[in-house]
Amino acid sequence: GFVPASRISAIGVSQILKIGARAQAMKRDGAPVIILGAGEPDFDTPDTVKQAAWKAIQRGDTKYTALDGTPDLKQAIREKFRRENGLDYAADEITVATGAKQVLFNAMMATLNAGDEVIIPTPAWTSYSDIVTIAEGKPLCIPCSAQAGFKLTASQLEAAITPKTKWLILNSPSNPSGAAYSTTDYQPLIEVLLRHPHVRLLVDDMYEHIVYDDFRFVTPAALEPRLKGRTLTVNGVSKAYAMTGWRIGYAGGSRELIKAMAVAQSQSTSCPSSVSQAAAVEALSGPQHFLKERTESFRRRRDLVVAGLNAIDGIDCRVPEGAFYTFAGCAGLVGKTTPAGKPIETDTDFSDYLLQEAHVAVVPGAAFGLSPFFRISYATSETELTEAILRIAAACSRLG
Ligand code: PLP
Repeated sequence: GFVPASRISAIGVSQILKIGARAQAMKRDGAPVIILGAGEPDFDTPDTVKQAAWKAIQRGDTKYTALDGTPDLKQAIREKFRRENGLDYAADEITVATGAKQVLFNAMMATLNAGDEVIIPTPAWTSYSDIVTIAEGKPLCIPCSAQAGFKLTASQLEAAITPKTKWLILNSPSNPSGAAYSTTDYQPLIEVLLRHPHVRLLVDDMYEHIVYDDFRFVTPAALEPRLKGRTLTVNGVSKAYAMTGWRIGYAGGSRELIKAMAVAQSQSTSCPSSVSQAAAVEALSGPQHFLKERTESFRRRRDLVVAGLNAIDGIDCRVPEGAFYTFAGCAGLVGKTTPAGKPIETDTDFSDYLLQEAHVAVVPGAAFGLSPFFRISYATSETELTEAILRIAAACSRLG
């Protein structure tokens, strides 16, 4: 039979995609499943962005582009970094790829030798450790507790660094926890990094625009200029502009690193889609007012979900600073038994129970490296969220 290469069998299919597929199949069979598993906004791509793509097609921007981004898009990204982050990157310090995911992939392919270590605070987006593994590196997952706000501490970082450490990956606001690092959270980590000049920092700022209340988003390369040369500041248009299907991500970093990443890209995708790049120019340079409106709508949904979950016996949910996820604890339900007599031993059991009995699809904490928790993506209507919370509460009350 077919045997995949070891680099592929080492990672397997993402648990998130598996649960999504099961939920979709149940829905097709007629079950009224509410899917709170998807990591994408339910809003539409702004019309101005769609029009820019259409104009690009009419203009004939339908051919290969420069390897790691058109001059126009690189310029728009430089201006975005300057305007929103106070970061000054030259054109050859910018890279564009087919999604932030390919940016990460290029960065790891370009820098890791077999056995090089990458520090990943968990819970974390699963792709980090899987991409590191494909690139023959060694992911070092550091559990960050709910008590610590799901954030890495300076002493944890200090203890994790070895001579083999290549990267620390930080993601703020975080998928799956919604936790975000303030200046005060970053400062002690930056001090540790300054003492270890061989460690590079990859920050994934994907959810930068989705922050709530009076939280102020900051990015480490802007906080500490001495760190900028070894920081890769990753971002993209997928989440902020509801453009997940356009597949455009980008980053700023040192000229040498950006050049090596372009080599990785040159033998995989050649260049990002020409039409999508034209659309991304409009997203980054055009009107930005809807960002605030959409974030306000996400905030209302966050408040609804957090309050609803915390009212359920056995569930404990921290208020996230950003993104559109909550990572709720279900320690109080582990050890209980379903009406059918099945024990709930893990967060995966609990998520399975919610899907079967409540027809609500969530993702177990195990998929993100920290248990017992479950992730809810609240990028869906308030009506659906309200119904989902009612169903989860009812299902939990039937556990004995
Ligand atoms: N970074 C984080 C933290 C994400 O959650 C995601 C998508 O789920 C990505 C990056 C990937 O984004 P892109 O669509 O640009 O590949």
